[in-house]
Amino acid sequence: MTRALVSARESALLKLTRCPCCGAGRVSSSGGRAAAVAFACNAVFGLDANAEVMPISVCPSGSYVAARALNQQALKAVREMAGAP
Ligand SMILES: [Zn+2]
Repeated sequence: MTRALVSARESALLKLTRCPCCGAGRVSSSGGRAAAVAFACNAVFGLDANAEVMPISVCPSGSYVAARALNQQALKAVREMAGAP
């Protein structure tokens, strides 16, 4: 692991102003070997013990998409039972 790569990863993290998954705004950040950036969606990305960027707290956007799909399936099922096209 080169120092330059650690520095480049930290820099990439700290440049994030929005969640890379859903676009929610940044709410806090800290630099150094334990660099971390937190977003309004509750996602947190940071450097792990190997200085690799890791999701410390995952973005829930995928779960919102899944919940919406389940709601749409349920609505479609009810409409079909009611005879709607
Ligand atoms: Zn997010």
